[in-house]
Amino acid sequence: MFAQMEAVRLEALHLAHDPATGMRAVIAIHNTRLGPALGGCRFLAYADEESAIRDAMRLAEGMSYKAALAGLAQGGGKAVIMRPPHLNDRAALFEAFGRMVDSLGGRYITAVDSGTSAADMDCVARQTTHVTSTSQGGDPSVHTALGVFAGIRATALARLGSDDLEDLRIAVQGLGHVGFALAEQLAAAGAELLVSDHNPGLVQLAVEQFGAHPVPSEALLATPCDILSPCGLGGIFNSLTVAQLRCAAVAGAANNQLSHPGIADELEARGILYAPDYVINSGGLIYVSLQHEGAPPERITAQMQEIPRRLTDIYAHAQAEKRSPARVADQQAERLLFG
Ligand code: NAD
Repeated sequence: MFAQMEAVRLEALHLAHDPATGMRAVIAIHNTRLGPALGGCRFLAYADEESAIRDAMRLAEGMSYKAALAGLAQGGGKAVIMRPPHLNDRAALFEAFGRMVDSLGGRYITAVDSGTSAADMDCVARQTTHVTSTSQGGDPSVHTALGVFAGIRATALARLGSDDLEDLRIAVQGLGHVGFALAEQLAAAGAELLVSDHNPGLVQLAVEQFGAHPVPSEALLATPCDILSPCGLGGIFNSLTVAQLRCAAVAGAANNQLSHPGIADELEARGILYAPDYVINSGGLIYVSLQHEGAPPERITAQMQEIPRRLTDIYAHAQAEKRSPARVADQQAERLLFG
């Protein structure tokens, strides 16, 4: 286990079991150099505890990189609660998790993630103040979408010479919390929208509300467009899918879009400008982090403007150094995290 921690430079790993509720939880704290670790809490069924721990460690590392390049005084962490086969009292389980979070004295701040909701965070908040994205806080996805929209404009400027999205063909994969709000902004900016989602109801809504053109899910990546915006699941780019792309740039919300770091170089070799996912999708994190701090709305707005500014800076370095923006982003984050 220590070798695995060392491999991702993880600071601490906490495990807890609550016999009364059956809660089995992992909290991974990756890096607190810039501030307390912030990151969501997953509540999913895992095959075994090894996979749960690995997931927490990997995701915590990603949060450190995201917070660092978002300019936040925040480190990276992640919690995973292994979903039991039979759940008797969900509220009691999340209260037990809240006590675990509280026992860390603020070194880790939790939030909503896959399988958890604002209502779960309300239960956590009964036991600790080190929690964000409760039902009082509002949906961070809207802020993620705002950041992605600003990032798409910065990407269009860097790759196509103008940040005017009017008549650009933009393909959005996934019309969930982020993708739908993004599609709305892109349509308002005059973009020609191509959309796909496994849920036909969401596609129909985008067609009716924004005049979007529906594309079958399996065809979207290969559809000719100016900008492809992945807003569904991660891991969608591998050597096969990169070879199919017919876009000038990729800029979307999905986490961990590259199946491995070398894929960034393959995108670069094809002349496709890639917006590093953890930079362009950091709007939700900025919102929950600053809201937790009690920052005024104008400070949140100012920090959100860091997203296109940071991307523009990354693109300039990438172009000058003939490297992928993903490599540049990693290097910038590592400088902040490890000196
Ligand atoms: P969501 O679950 O609300 O929506 C995802 C949508 O994508 C679903 O409607 C799903 O049907 C669709 N989808 C998945 N795979 C698809 C595919 N191959 N083709 C077409 N449609 C597909 O999720 P979300 O909150 O909108 O987040 C979207 C992505 O952005 C995720 O990868 C998430 O990790 C990442 N992200 C979200 C936030 C946030 O604030 N919600 C912040 C940062 C990153």
